[in-house]
This record gives sequence, C-alpha cells and structure tokens, in this order.
Amino acid sequence: MSNTTNFHIETLAVHAGVEPDPMTGAVMTPIYQTSTYAQDDVAVHKGYEYSRTDNPTRTALQTSLAALENGRFALCFSSGMAAIDTLLRLVKPNEHVVCGNDVYGGTYRLFDKILSQYGITFSFAETTDLDAVAAAIQPNTRFVWVETPTNPMLKLTDIAALAQVAHDNGAQLAVDNTFASPVLQRPLTLGADFVIHSTTKYIGGHSDVVGGAVITNDEAAYKQLKFLQNAIGAVPGPMDCFLTLRGIKTLALRMGAHCRNATMVAQFLADHPAVAQVIYPGLESHPQYELAQRQMAGPGGMVSFVLHGGEPAARLVAREAKLFTLAESLGGVESLIELPAPMTHASVADSPLAVDPGLVRVSVGIENADDLIMDLGAVLKKV
Ligand SMILES: *Cc1c(COP(=O)(O)O)cnc(C)c1O
Repeated sequence: MSNTTNFHIETLAVHAGVEPDPMTGAVMTPIYQTSTYAQDDVAVHKGYEYSRTDNPTRTALQTSLAALENGRFALCFSSGMAAIDTLLRLVKPNEHVVCGNDVYGGTYRLFDKILSQYGITFSFAETTDLDAVAAAIQPNTRFVWVETPTNPMLKLTDIAALAQVAHDNGAQLAVDNTFASPVLQRPLTLGADFVIHSTTKYIGGHSDVVGGAVITNDEAAYKQLKFLQNAIGAVPGPMDCFLTLRGIKTLALRMGAHCRNATMVAQFLADHPAVAQVIYPGLESHPQYELAQRQMAGPGGMVSFVLHGGEPAARLVAREAKLFTLAESLGGVESLIELPAPMTHASVADSPLAVDPGLVRVSVGIENADDLIMDLGAVLKKV
C-alpha cells in the first residue's frame, strides 16, 4: 500500500510500502539481490538502472518509513551515521549547526572531528532550555540538531517549541528519533523538518542489521538528498532492507512491550536501596515527566541509573547480569546493559558531553519483566 495516511501506526507497520510482487504475487517484498537491471532500449528502463541509485527492496523500505513518520519522503542508508553524514552535506562551508549537548557519541565525533574540518561550525547547547538554543543560534545557522530522549541521559526536548525557535531564526530542525521510534513520537507532525533514524535500533529491532534513514516533507531538500544518496553511495543492500522491513512489522507490538517492561524495571530500580538515581521518562521523578506524557505515546525502553557504589558497582552489575547482555547498541528484542562512559560514549570522553563513569544504561527487551527484575535483583545483592 502506498496511500496509507489515514491508518494507525500498527496498520502502517504491517502494510505500508509492501505490495504483492507484480510478477509472482509474492506477499512479502522480495530481496531484489541484483546490482543492475535489463533496459528495454537504450536508456529506457522500468525505473531501476543500478542498485546504488535505486533498488525495489529499498524502495519498499523507504515507502514504509515515510508512512511511519508521517512524511512524504524517506531515504535509507547503510547506517545511521551514513544517514546523518549525508544529511549534513546540506550544510555549506561557513554555515553553522546548533547541536544538543547530549547526543549519540558517533554524532558528536562526526560533527566535532570530521565535519568541522570542512568549514562547518557547531555549537553545543542545552536543548531542554529553549533560551539556551535561541542564544546559540547565529545568522548563519542552518540546522538545529536534537535527540529526544537523549542518549544516555534520557533528557527530553519539546519538539514543537524547538521547531518554532529554529524557524523563527531561519534554521531547520532535525530530530534523531532513534530512541523513541515513530510509534512513540512523530517529530514531523510536531513541526520538525527532518527525522533521522538509526534503523539498527528499534526499527530493525532484532540486532541483526545496521541501517539508517532520513525522512522529510521538504521536497527540495529530498531532491538534494536523493542526489547525495546516489552520489555518495552509502546505501543499504537489499538483504538489509528486507530484514529491516521484516522488523518493522512488529514495531508497534515491540514498542508496547519495551515500554511496559522498562516501566517495571525502572520502578524496581527506583525502590532498590543500592540504587542512587534512576533516569526514566516514565517515572514521576523525571524532571520532564509532564513533557513525556504530552509528547510521547509511551516512555520508551531505555533506562539509565547510578548506584551508590559508583563505578565499581556499575561494572560489577554490567558484568554479572545474565539476561542483560553486556553489549553496545539498543532497541533489540533482547535486553542489553552497558556503561556509556567507557563504551558507547568513549568518543566523547574528553568533551563537554562526557558522562558519569558510574552511569549504567539498560535497553530493556521484550522478555518477561519478572525474569528481568529477578536477574537485576540477584546482581544488585552483590554490590
Ligand atoms: C546508534 C545511533 C546512531 C548511529 O547509528 P548507526 O546505525 O550505529 O550508524 C545515531 N543516533 C542514535 C541516537 C543512535 O542510537
């Protein structure tokens, strides 16, 4: 189905972009494992010439993602970082980007270590404070870049209000929606200009494929991005697109389970004497609990916490938990645990974005919550 705008997200997740194959009637989009396409005559083809430019399995995924984010256009990339890098090619030398001060470590590394070498300047601002963003904007600001919830501090930004600040100053707002997924929030409907995903996380959902996407309603920007996607070539292969599409079908079900389980795990941790602090947008103790209720359809599957025993206790819990696999990444069906400071956020260690070395981050999976709580309870007895 391609015209799907009136359906709910559960329905879109199953149907959007997926049409029975015209040749065979195959209900699932085939993995078009081909690099090239026979032409009917010289330069006359059926819309597909070469798989860097277009591939039918990728087209299906792009159609699905556009529908999920309530956008007109989506483009897929070989990773979330490739999506971010390609989008940032819209920024010209001597232009400026205001970036949230708690972003994915790889995003910070790309901005601070690579793109800054090409004449683009960056300011890092506290995006929970709209005045701080407004103060960081310059006459040459092209983008405001934000994650909400952030990684790993799970801070929220009011997307509609931030879009207003960006637009009032002639800038566009890009939202990395990886942590929420379109099931929990759709930034384009709140006024954002671009949504970015690492589809590696909740969208793929099974920790078996790396990918990224950009979604927008801005047709002029889409045309430029489509040109860049082909010119740069950081595209996903058809098998990766198939796996991601397959994951999407259960996205709504999975997000419900992630939210329910994470709420129970966060509550358990908050009540535990070994735990000093729990950060979770679904707890009333979260400083932006009210914004989470208003902006998100659920508080998500990510929980961060600090133990009274600090870093040694954190390392012990990360090492000894059984059901929570010690690993980077997030958003898969299985629960994961990590210490951001030495792992996912090592690339921001000596920057203003550095995180508490005792912070523990869990990606709560879709297992039975009682089993997850029993596992954490057993390791917390040892600290
Ligand atoms: C993982 C992640 C990225 C980068 O995506 P890759 O698919 O790993 O390249 C970007 N933003 C956020 C919020 C992420 O979690």
